[in-house]
Amino acid sequence: MAHALIVGAGIAGDTLALLLERDGWQVTVVELAPALREGGQTVDLRGDSREVLERLGLLGDVLSVLVPQRGMAWITANGHRLATMPVEAFGGRGFVSSEELLRTDLARVLHDAAGPAVEHRFGETVDALTEHPDGVDVLFRSGRQERFDLVVGADGAHSRVRSLVFGDDPAQRTSLGLAHAWFTLEEQPDTPRLDGWCVVHHAGRRRAVAARPGHPGEQEVGLTFAADAVPRGDREAQFALLDQALAGAGWRTAEFLAAARTAPDFALDTYEQIHLPAWSAGRVVLVGDAAWCTSPLSGLGTALGLRGAAELADALERADARAAPAQIPAALHDYESAMRPRATSAQRLLPGRVGMVAPASRFGALTNALLMRLVQLPIMQGVVARAGAESGHATKTQSQPV
Ligand SMILES: Cc1cc2nc3c(=O)[nH]c(=O)nc-3n(C[C@H](O)[C@H](O)[C@H](O)COP(=O)(O)OP(=O)(O)OC[C@H]3O[C@@H](n4cnc5c(N)ncnc54)[C@H](O)[C@@H]3O)c2cc1C
Repeated sequence: MAHALIVGAGIAGDTLALLLERDGWQVTVVELAPALREGGQTVDLRGDSREVLERLGLLGDVLSVLVPQRGMAWITANGHRLATMPVEAFGGRGFVSSEELLRTDLARVLHDAAGPAVEHRFGETVDALTEHPDGVDVLFRSGRQERFDLVVGADGAHSRVRSLVFGDDPAQRTSLGLAHAWFTLEEQPDTPRLDGWCVVHHAGRRRAVAARPGHPGEQEVGLTFAADAVPRGDREAQFALLDQALAGAGWRTAEFLAAARTAPDFALDTYEQIHLPAWSAGRVVLVGDAAWCTSPLSGLGTALGLRGAAELADALERADARAAPAQIPAALHDYESAMRPRATSAQRLLPGRVGMVAPASRFGALTNALLMRLVQLPIMQGVVARAGAESGHATKTQSQPV
């Protein structure tokens, strides 16, 4: 039986594992983390996400774990509301959808759907890949060595497979000039409640502090600030950077900075895009953020991860690559031809997008709030719909990192 290795048990990796298993492949998924990675904010089910989940027969499972939403509210440092955008805005195409679920829950649903032909190995990654005419020899971090017919890098924006195959040329990365910390806050009796709203405070100096609904009794916090790089793997240095960047930001920032230190799923990263001239070499291919990270600012990362996995599985099936593994390289080119236009379009952020997420000044924050009110006026609806359609973006941005 043809054997595929998928590196990364995230959204794209576990989706692909399900699809390949259904097409008769044996699949091994290795994940660097010791268990399925938790954390992340909400993702929605519009467009590609819904379609692929329906095809997988998992739509019912994800619909059963939706997080109730009322919309987005922009507030001042004192908590005064400047503008709101309810989920009903733009006929349900606003910033927040009524059908949102936590990334954690989506990852869990995908992971739990795997059948017996999918083996997951946690706390494992790849250290070397050597291509041969009839397969790829893989040296794992554990010291284990095996040959696979196909190797897929679904290991996210900082992909190891990408660096093993394509090197670490800085030209692959485009910084968007912002960093983002996110984590889950457990509500205490005196924690201000969100009442279903995603609440955003733009604090000026390109800083944004946000809290959105999570599981019952929890809030998902996002802290955004200007930075081109963040310390990796050094928690104390990360907290020190956050303290410094968000000093004096107001609203609940002090509460959030304290909560970050004990949050089990705290994460900090920069907003970057990945641009590669090719996504495959021989029998090794990239999918999801590893190939085309659009950054959370696109709002399309999860939808593209799901769609990319489906396009890759379809291309392999069209080429009958499982029965004829020599066809794999051609199938990988076919996949890239189908997927690249979508990824390229998603990388084209709406004009002013970075400034909207984190305005440079308090005046910018007020202007943004005013704009949010204006675009919802009935007279503006047609203009906004046309702008969204022309840019290829929904008005909404998934996991909007506000
Ligand atoms: C914990 C987490 C939280 C996130 N939260 C958000 C969010 O709130 N908003 C948003 O827009 N996007 C978020 N993302 C990114 C989002 O999941 C992706 O943009 C999108 O779903 C595409 O998924 P992906 O499978 O390509 O990448 P990811 O979902 O990032 O999955 C990559 C997987 O590969 C694993 N991995 C990384 N390096 C290695 C390695 N060397 N070896 C083996 N495995 C490795 C990671 O642990 C992860 O499980 C988050 C990602 C993670 C991992």
